[in-house]
Amino acid sequence: MQKVLYIEDSPDARRLVQRLLSDRYRVLEAEDGLTGIEVTWAEEPALILLDINIPYLDGYEVATKLKSLRPEVPIVALTADVSEGARQRALAAGCDGYISKPIDPDQFQTQVKAFLKGKREVLEQGERKVYAQAYQQRLVDRLEEKVRELTKVNEELKELDRMKDEFISIAAHELYTPLSILLGYTVMVQEEATGEMQRYLEIIVDKSLQLQRVIGCMLDLKYLQAGEALPKVEKVSLKELIEAMVDELDLLAETKQQAVELDLPEDLPEIEADRRRLNLILSNLLSNASKFTPEGGKIRVEARVGEGEVVVSVRDTGIGIPAKERERIFAPFYQIEDSLTRTHGGLGLGLAIAKSAVATCGGRIWVESEEGAGSTFSFTLPIYK
Ligand code: ADP
Repeated sequence: MQKVLYIEDSPDARRLVQRLLSDRYRVLEAEDGLTGIEVTWAEEPALILLDINIPYLDGYEVATKLKSLRPEVPIVALTADVSEGARQRALAAGCDGYISKPIDPDQFQTQVKAFLKGKREVLEQGERKVYAQAYQQRLVDRLEEKVRELTKVNEELKELDRMKDEFISIAAHELYTPLSILLGYTVMVQEEATGEMQRYLEIIVDKSLQLQRVIGCMLDLKYLQAGEALPKVEKVSLKELIEAMVDELDLLAETKQQAVELDLPEDLPEIEADRRRLNLILSNLLSNASKFTPEGGKIRVEARVGEGEVVVSVRDTGIGIPAKERERIFAPFYQIEDSLTRTHGGLGLGLAIAKSAVATCGGRIWVESEEGAGSTFSFTLPIYK
Protein backbone atom coordinates (compact mmCIF):
# COMPACT_ATOMS: atom_id res chain seq x y z
CA MET A 1 0.00 0.00 0.00
CA GLN A 2 1.36 3.42 -0.91
CA LYS A 3 1.91 5.83 1.95
CA VAL A 4 0.25 9.24 2.01
CA LEU A 5 1.30 11.71 4.70
CA TYR A 6 -1.23 14.30 5.87
CA ILE A 7 0.19 17.26 7.82
CA GLU A 8 -2.75 18.90 9.58
CA ASP A 9 -3.38 20.21 13.09
CA SER A 10 -7.14 19.62 13.15
CA PRO A 11 -8.00 16.08 14.32
CA ASP A 12 -11.41 16.30 12.60
CA ALA A 13 -9.83 17.07 9.23
CA ARG A 14 -7.34 14.21 9.73
CA ARG A 15 -10.15 11.82 10.58
CA LEU A 16 -12.03 12.80 7.40
CA VAL A 17 -8.99 12.20 5.19
CA GLN A 18 -8.34 8.88 6.92
CA ARG A 19 -11.91 7.86 6.17
CA LEU A 20 -11.70 8.88 2.53
CA LEU A 21 -8.30 7.37 1.74
CA SER A 22 -7.51 4.56 4.15
CA ASP A 23 -9.05 1.77 2.04
CA ARG A 24 -6.51 2.48 -0.73
CA TYR A 25 -3.52 4.06 1.01
CA ARG A 26 -1.74 3.94 4.34
CA VAL A 27 -2.46 7.42 5.66
CA LEU A 28 0.27 8.74 7.99
CA GLU A 29 -0.54 11.76 10.14
CA ALA A 30 1.49 14.65 11.53
CA GLU A 31 -0.06 17.46 13.53
CA ASP A 32 2.59 20.08 12.78
CA GLY A 33 5.28 20.80 10.23
CA LEU A 34 8.30 19.71 12.25
CA THR A 35 6.70 16.32 12.91
CA GLY A 36 5.78 16.15 9.23
CA ILE A 37 9.43 16.63 8.24
CA GLU A 38 10.51 13.86 10.63
CA VAL A 39 7.84 11.47 9.32
CA THR A 40 8.90 12.24 5.73
CA TRP A 41 12.48 11.29 6.61
CA ALA A 42 11.51 8.12 8.35
CA GLU A 43 8.60 6.82 6.25
CA GLU A 44 9.28 8.10 2.73
CA PRO A 45 5.63 8.71 1.75
CA ALA A 46 4.63 8.70 -1.92
CA LEU A 47 2.51 11.85 -1.54
CA ILE A 48 2.27 14.64 1.03
CA LEU A 49 -0.98 16.49 1.73
CA LEU A 50 -0.27 19.71 3.55
CA ASP A 51 -2.48 22.15 5.43
CA ILE A 52 -1.12 25.70 5.15
CA ASN A 53 -2.42 27.10 8.41
CA ILE A 54 -0.47 24.98 10.92
CA PRO A 55 1.45 25.96 14.07
CA TYR A 56 5.20 26.83 14.28
CA LEU A 57 6.49 26.51 10.69
CA ASP A 58 3.56 27.33 8.41
CA GLY A 59 2.59 25.19 5.43
CA TYR A 60 4.56 27.28 2.91
CA GLU A 61 7.78 26.91 4.92
CA VAL A 62 7.19 23.20 5.41
CA ALA A 63 6.64 22.78 1.64
CA THR A 64 9.97 24.52 0.91
CA LYS A 65 11.78 22.29 3.37
CA LEU A 66 10.11 19.08 2.16
CA LYS A 67 10.86 19.92 -1.46
CA SER A 68 14.56 20.23 -0.70
CA LEU A 69 14.45 16.98 1.31
CA ARG A 70 12.55 14.86 -1.22
CA PRO A 71 12.19 16.74 -4.53
CA GLU A 72 10.56 13.73 -6.17
CA VAL A 73 7.62 13.48 -3.73
CA PRO A 74 4.55 15.50 -4.80
CA ILE A 75 3.25 17.96 -2.18
CA VAL A 76 -0.35 19.08 -2.39
CA ALA A 77 -1.62 22.07 -0.40
CA LEU A 78 -4.97 21.29 1.15
CA THR A 79 -6.36 24.52 2.46
CA ALA A 80 -9.40 26.62 3.19
CA ASP A 81 -7.50 29.71 2.06
CA VAL A 82 -9.23 30.68 -1.18
CA SER A 83 -8.03 34.30 -1.18
CA GLU A 84 -6.51 35.69 -4.32
CA GLY A 85 -3.08 34.25 -5.04
CA ALA A 86 -3.39 31.42 -2.45
CA ARG A 87 -2.75 28.77 -5.09
CA GLN A 88 0.19 30.69 -6.60
CA ARG A 89 1.73 31.25 -3.17
CA ALA A 90 1.56 27.52 -2.43
CA LEU A 91 3.13 26.59 -5.78
CA ALA A 92 5.86 29.23 -5.44
CA ALA A 93 6.78 27.82 -2.02
CA GLY A 94 7.28 24.30 -3.42
CA CYS A 95 3.86 22.66 -3.63
CA ASP A 96 2.94 20.69 -6.76
CA GLY A 97 -0.78 21.17 -6.46
CA TYR A 98 -3.61 22.80 -4.60
CA ILE A 99 -6.90 21.34 -3.38
CA SER A 100 -9.30 23.74 -1.69
CA LYS A 101 -11.21 22.87 1.45
CA PRO A 102 -13.84 21.81 2.26
CA ILE A 103 -12.83 18.58 0.61
CA ASP A 104 -15.29 17.23 -1.95
CA PRO A 105 -15.64 13.56 -0.88
CA ASP A 106 -16.72 12.49 -4.38
CA GLN A 107 -13.68 14.04 -6.02
CA PHE A 108 -10.98 13.59 -3.42
CA GLN A 109 -9.78 10.08 -4.25
CA THR A 110 -9.51 10.96 -7.95
CA GLN A 111 -7.62 14.17 -7.16
CA VAL A 112 -5.14 12.32 -4.95
CA LYS A 113 -4.68 9.53 -7.48
CA ALA A 114 -3.88 12.08 -10.24
CA PHE A 115 -0.96 13.48 -8.21
CA LEU A 116 0.30 9.99 -7.46
CA LYS A 117 0.21 9.26 -11.17
CA GLY A 118 2.38 12.27 -11.99
CA LYS A 119 0.12 15.32 -12.20
CA ARG A 120 2.07 18.52 -11.37
CA GLU A 121 0.70 22.05 -11.43
CA VAL A 122 3.24 24.71 -12.42
CA LEU A 123 3.24 28.50 -12.53
CA GLU A 124 4.17 30.27 -15.70
CA GLN A 125 7.57 31.98 -15.60
CA GLY A 126 6.43 35.58 -14.90
CA GLU A 127 3.96 34.59 -12.21
CA ARG A 128 6.53 32.37 -10.54
CA LYS A 129 9.02 35.23 -10.31
CA VAL A 130 6.53 37.66 -8.73
CA TYR A 131 5.26 35.15 -6.17
CA ALA A 132 8.71 33.76 -5.35
CA GLN A 133 9.97 37.28 -4.62
CA ALA A 134 7.00 38.07 -2.39
CA TYR A 135 7.51 34.73 -0.62
CA GLN A 136 11.18 35.44 0.00
CA GLN A 137 10.37 38.83 1.47
CA ARG A 138 7.79 37.25 3.74
CA LEU A 139 10.31 34.63 4.87
CA VAL A 140 12.83 37.30 5.83
CA ASP A 141 10.13 39.20 7.74
CA ARG A 142 9.11 36.04 9.60
CA LEU A 143 12.75 35.25 10.37
CA GLU A 144 13.31 38.73 11.75
CA GLU A 145 10.20 38.46 13.90
CA LYS A 146 11.31 35.03 15.20
CA VAL A 147 14.83 36.24 15.99
CA ARG A 148 13.37 39.15 17.96
CA GLU A 149 11.00 36.84 19.84
CA LEU A 150 13.77 34.34 20.64
CA THR A 151 16.19 37.03 21.75
CA LYS A 152 13.57 38.40 24.12
CA VAL A 153 12.70 34.98 25.51
CA ASN A 154 16.40 34.18 25.85
CA GLU A 155 16.95 37.37 27.88
CA GLU A 156 14.05 36.44 30.14
CA LEU A 157 15.44 32.94 30.63
CA LYS A 158 18.88 34.31 31.45
CA GLU A 159 17.33 36.59 34.04
CA LEU A 160 15.40 33.67 35.55
CA ASP A 161 18.59 31.60 35.58
CA ARG A 162 20.44 34.41 37.34
CA MET A 163 17.63 34.69 39.92
CA LYS A 164 17.80 30.92 40.47
CA ASP A 165 21.57 31.07 41.03
CA GLU A 166 21.12 33.95 43.42
CA PHE A 167 18.40 32.10 45.29
CA ILE A 168 20.60 29.03 45.68
CA SER A 169 23.46 31.13 46.91
CA ILE A 170 21.36 33.10 49.43
CA ALA A 171 19.60 29.94 50.62
CA ALA A 172 22.94 28.17 51.06
CA HIS A 173 24.40 31.04 53.07
CA GLU A 174 21.27 31.37 55.21
CA LEU A 175 21.33 27.66 55.98
CA TYR A 176 25.06 27.38 56.56
CA THR A 177 25.39 29.70 59.56
CA PRO A 178 22.59 28.34 61.78
CA LEU A 179 23.59 24.80 60.90
CA SER A 180 27.18 25.42 61.98
CA ILE A 181 25.94 26.83 65.30
CA LEU A 182 23.64 23.84 65.76
CA LEU A 183 26.48 21.48 65.03
CA GLY A 184 28.85 23.30 67.40
CA TYR A 185 26.41 23.10 70.33
CA THR A 186 25.56 19.47 69.60
CA VAL A 187 29.22 18.50 69.70
CA MET A 188 29.56 20.36 73.03
CA VAL A 189 26.54 18.57 74.53
CA GLN A 190 27.80 15.27 73.11
CA GLU A 191 30.96 15.53 75.19
CA GLU A 192 28.86 15.63 78.36
CA ALA A 193 26.33 13.03 77.32
CA THR A 194 26.31 9.37 78.28
CA GLY A 195 24.56 6.14 77.27
CA GLU A 196 21.61 6.30 74.86
CA MET A 197 21.86 10.08 74.66
CA GLN A 198 25.39 9.76 73.28
CA ARG A 199 24.06 7.64 70.43
CA TYR A 200 21.21 10.03 69.59
CA LEU A 201 23.55 12.98 69.49
CA GLU A 202 25.92 11.04 67.27
CA ILE A 203 23.08 10.61 64.78
CA ILE A 204 22.29 14.34 64.94
CA VAL A 205 25.95 15.20 64.28
CA ASP A 206 26.18 12.69 61.44
CA LYS A 207 23.04 14.00 59.69
CA SER A 208 24.08 17.63 60.26
CA LEU A 209 27.43 16.93 58.58
CA GLN A 210 25.56 15.37 55.68
CA LEU A 211 23.42 18.50 55.40
CA GLN A 212 26.54 20.64 55.57
CA ARG A 213 28.03 18.74 52.62
CA VAL A 214 24.90 19.39 50.55
CA ILE A 215 25.00 23.08 51.38
CA GLY A 216 28.73 23.11 50.66
CA CYS A 217 27.92 21.75 47.20
CA MET A 218 25.48 24.61 46.57
CA LEU A 219 28.13 27.13 47.61
CA ASP A 220 30.83 25.44 45.48
CA LEU A 221 28.75 25.73 42.32
CA LYS A 222 28.24 29.44 42.73
CA TYR A 223 31.91 29.94 43.41
CA LEU A 224 32.99 28.04 40.29
CA GLN A 225 30.38 29.29 37.83
CA ALA A 226 30.54 32.96 38.62
CA GLY A 227 34.28 32.81 37.97
CA GLU A 228 34.53 35.03 41.03
CA ALA A 229 37.73 33.55 42.33
CA LEU A 230 40.67 32.76 40.06
CA PRO A 231 42.10 29.28 40.55
CA LYS A 232 45.07 29.20 42.88
CA VAL A 233 47.35 27.13 40.64
CA GLU A 234 50.27 25.49 42.39
CA LYS A 235 52.51 22.46 42.17
CA VAL A 236 50.57 19.47 43.48
CA SER A 237 51.66 15.91 44.15
CA LEU A 238 48.82 14.08 42.49
CA LYS A 239 49.94 10.78 43.96
CA GLU A 240 49.62 11.99 47.57
CA LEU A 241 46.34 13.70 46.89
CA ILE A 242 44.78 10.68 45.18
CA GLU A 243 46.01 8.34 47.90
CA ALA A 244 44.47 10.53 50.58
CA MET A 245 41.14 10.73 48.73
CA VAL A 246 41.11 6.97 48.13
CA ASP A 247 41.63 6.40 51.87
CA GLU A 248 38.48 8.44 52.48
CA LEU A 249 36.64 6.50 49.79
CA ASP A 250 37.62 3.24 51.48
CA LEU A 251 35.44 4.13 54.47
CA LEU A 252 32.43 4.79 52.23
CA ALA A 253 33.04 1.75 50.05
CA GLU A 254 33.40 -0.55 53.05
CA THR A 255 29.76 -0.02 53.98
CA LYS A 256 28.78 -1.36 50.54
CA GLN A 257 31.46 -4.06 50.44
CA GLN A 258 32.98 -2.48 47.37
CA ALA A 259 36.60 -3.20 46.46
CA VAL A 260 38.73 -0.14 45.83
CA GLU A 261 41.84 -0.48 43.63
CA LEU A 262 44.51 2.07 42.97
CA ASP A 263 46.86 1.96 40.00
CA LEU A 264 49.34 4.83 39.83
CA PRO A 265 52.63 4.73 37.94
CA GLU A 266 55.74 5.07 40.11
CA ASP A 267 56.92 8.11 38.20
CA LEU A 268 53.65 10.08 38.24
CA PRO A 269 54.83 13.67 37.67
CA GLU A 270 53.66 16.64 39.73
CA ILE A 271 50.88 18.64 38.18
CA GLU A 272 49.67 22.22 38.03
CA ALA A 273 46.31 22.61 39.72
CA ASP A 274 44.25 24.37 42.34
CA ARG A 275 44.36 21.92 45.25
CA ARG A 276 40.87 22.74 46.52
CA ARG A 277 39.34 22.32 43.06
CA LEU A 278 41.19 19.09 42.46
CA ASN A 279 39.73 17.83 45.72
CA LEU A 280 36.26 18.74 44.50
CA ILE A 281 36.77 16.88 41.20
CA LEU A 282 38.00 13.71 42.82
CA SER A 283 35.58 13.69 45.73
CA ASN A 284 32.60 14.05 43.39
CA LEU A 285 33.79 11.37 40.97
CA LEU A 286 34.67 8.95 43.76
CA SER A 287 31.45 9.42 45.71
CA ASN A 288 29.43 8.96 42.49
CA ALA A 289 31.38 5.80 41.67
CA SER A 290 30.45 4.35 45.03
CA LYS A 291 26.89 5.70 44.99
CA PHE A 292 26.02 4.28 41.56
CA THR A 293 27.73 0.91 42.04
CA PRO A 294 25.81 -1.90 43.74
CA GLU A 295 27.11 -3.75 46.78
CA GLY A 296 30.11 -5.93 46.06
CA GLY A 297 31.17 -3.89 43.01
CA LYS A 298 34.60 -2.55 42.19
CA ILE A 299 36.02 0.96 41.93
CA ARG A 300 39.40 1.53 40.36
CA VAL A 301 41.39 4.76 40.26
CA GLU A 302 44.13 4.99 37.62
CA ALA A 303 46.48 7.63 36.34
CA ARG A 304 48.69 7.67 33.28
CA VAL A 305 50.98 10.19 31.71
CA GLY A 306 50.04 11.70 28.35
CA GLU A 307 51.59 14.45 26.26
CA GLY A 308 52.10 17.38 28.65
CA GLU A 309 49.27 16.12 30.83
CA VAL A 310 48.20 13.48 33.30
CA VAL A 311 44.99 11.52 32.71
CA VAL A 312 43.16 10.37 35.83
CA SER A 313 40.35 7.81 35.49
CA VAL A 314 37.77 6.61 37.98
CA ARG A 315 36.28 3.29 36.85
CA ASP A 316 33.31 1.58 38.40
CA THR A 317 31.33 -1.59 37.76
CA GLY A 318 28.06 0.19 38.47
CA ILE A 319 24.75 0.82 36.70
CA GLY A 320 26.31 2.69 33.76
CA ILE A 321 24.95 5.67 31.84
CA PRO A 322 22.76 5.47 28.69
CA ALA A 323 24.46 7.00 25.60
CA LYS A 324 21.91 9.79 25.24
CA GLU A 325 22.56 11.00 28.81
CA ARG A 326 26.36 11.17 28.66
CA GLU A 327 26.56 14.86 27.76
CA ARG A 328 23.65 16.01 29.85
CA ILE A 329 24.84 14.62 33.17
CA PHE A 330 27.47 17.37 33.31
CA ALA A 331 24.76 20.09 33.36
CA PRO A 332 23.86 21.60 36.74
CA PHE A 333 20.99 19.81 38.52
CA TYR A 334 20.68 17.14 35.84
CA GLN A 335 20.02 13.66 37.18
CA ILE A 336 19.07 10.64 35.13
CA GLU A 337 16.63 9.30 37.69
CA ASP A 338 13.42 11.22 38.26
CA SER A 339 14.01 13.44 41.31
CA LEU A 340 10.74 12.33 42.91
CA THR A 341 11.36 8.62 42.69
CA ARG A 342 15.12 8.53 42.92
CA THR A 343 16.80 6.23 45.34
CA HIS A 344 20.19 8.02 45.45
CA GLY A 345 20.90 11.22 47.36
CA GLY A 346 22.47 14.36 45.87
CA LEU A 347 21.49 17.57 44.14
CA GLY A 348 22.75 16.80 40.63
CA LEU A 349 25.56 19.30 41.06
CA GLY A 350 28.61 17.06 41.52
CA LEU A 351 29.53 16.62 37.85
CA ALA A 352 28.76 20.25 36.98
CA ILE A 353 31.15 21.29 39.72
CA ALA A 354 33.76 18.75 38.59
CA LYS A 355 33.46 19.98 34.99
CA SER A 356 33.89 23.66 35.91
CA ALA A 357 36.75 22.80 38.24
CA VAL A 358 38.59 20.79 35.55
CA ALA A 359 38.08 23.58 33.01
CA THR A 360 39.45 26.26 35.32
CA CYS A 361 42.54 24.08 35.89
CA GLY A 362 43.09 23.84 32.12
CA GLY A 363 41.92 20.25 31.63
CA ARG A 364 39.11 18.20 30.03
CA ILE A 365 36.63 15.73 31.50
CA TRP A 366 34.61 12.99 29.77
CA VAL A 367 32.84 9.73 30.43
CA GLU A 368 32.79 6.32 28.77
CA SER A 369 30.16 3.89 29.87
CA GLU A 370 28.25 0.75 29.16
CA GLU A 371 24.77 0.48 30.56
CA GLY A 372 24.62 -2.16 33.25
CA ALA A 373 28.38 -2.76 33.14
CA GLY A 374 29.93 0.42 34.54
CA SER A 375 31.32 3.87 33.83
CA THR A 376 34.75 5.44 33.54
CA PHE A 377 35.09 9.16 34.22
CA SER A 378 38.43 10.59 33.06
CA PHE A 379 39.95 14.05 33.33
CA THR A 380 43.25 15.62 32.37
CA LEU A 381 45.48 18.11 34.16
CA PRO A 382 48.61 19.82 32.86
CA ILE A 383 51.99 18.56 34.09
CA TYR A 384 53.91 21.06 36.25
CA LYS A 385 56.65 22.77 34.22
P1 ADP B 1 24.25 13.61 41.86
O1 ADP B 1 25.24 12.51 42.03
O2 ADP B 1 24.14 14.53 43.02
O3 ADP B 1 22.92 13.13 41.39
P2 ADP B 1 26.02 14.47 39.69
O4 ADP B 1 26.08 15.77 38.98
O5 ADP B 1 27.24 14.06 40.43
O6 ADP B 1 24.77 14.55 40.67
O7 ADP B 1 25.62 13.35 38.66
C1 ADP B 1 24.54 13.57 37.78
C2 ADP B 1 23.89 12.26 37.39
O8 ADP B 1 24.80 11.50 36.57
C3 ADP B 1 23.58 11.35 38.56
O9 ADP B 1 22.34 11.67 39.16
C4 ADP B 1 23.56 9.99 37.89
O10 ADP B 1 22.31 9.80 37.24
C5 ADP B 1 24.63 10.12 36.81
N1 ADP B 1 25.94 9.56 37.25
C6 ADP B 1 27.00 10.25 37.75
N2 ADP B 1 28.03 9.43 38.02
C7 ADP B 1 27.63 8.18 37.69
C8 ADP B 1 28.24 6.89 37.74
N3 ADP B 1 29.51 6.71 38.18
N4 ADP B 1 27.51 5.82 37.31
C9 ADP B 1 26.24 5.99 36.86
N5 ADP B 1 25.61 7.17 36.80
C10 ADP B 1 26.28 8.27 37.20
